[in-house]
Amino acid sequence: MERKVDNLVSLPEDFNAERDLLSLSDPKFVDLKDRLYDEYKGSVSDADNSDEYFSWISCWIALYSVQTNNLGIGALLVDQDNKIVSYSHNQVFSPKFRSDAHAEMLTINDFESRQPSKCNLSGYTIYSSLEPCPMCLTRLIIAGVGRVVYVADDEYGGMVHLIDLLPKIWQDLRKTGVYTSLECCQNIKNLSSDIFAYNRERLDSTLFDGGQIGV
Ligand SMILES: [Zn+2]
Repeated sequence: MERKVDNLVSLPEDFNAERDLLSLSDPKFVDLKDRLYDEYKGSVSDADNSDEYFSWISCWIALYSVQTNNLGIGALLVDQDNKIVSYSHNQVFSPKFRSDAHAEMLTINDFESRQPSKCNLSGYTIYSSLEPCPMCLTRLIIAGVGRVVYVADDEYGGMVHLIDLLPKIWQDLRKTGVYTSLECCQNIKNLSSDIFAYNRERLDSTLFDGGQIGV
């Protein structure tokens, strides 16, 4: 997809050839990048592996997010033909503070703004590198996304494992959707957790210590 939104680059045509887009040099980042490419499969030709492939891309976006000084979370929306139709990463902290700029929210915002006639995403799958939070999960339910696949569990902030606690209207709306953790690939799940952990403590402290962003 050829587009630039805020500080999000276009996804590479060839992830292998464009490894340098992930460009931080500190050892922790380089280690995450190495682990990411150790898991690179490079193709969606085998439909059975599409969940794994798109989950990998969500982790690529998540790692890119880290180098924009945002939380390491990425998301992408895929249509019935396995075509990526939208994607984004966490942008809560940069380029300016936006409390709602979660990866899933921005992905749906972008798609809806370009497809105003679409009001039903039942045939679409959103891949997120991290279990969606309450805000994002309810947004995905309202948007009617047919399938939600997330890579890493988020015991502390994720809502999918608590989906049965949503109020009744959300329970009714979510009935046709599928919400599931990626079922294979423990390496990718561990990697996604580690990407999320990379700067979470530092960035969260800027919220909880009075909103001093960028320190
Ligand atoms: Zn969220």
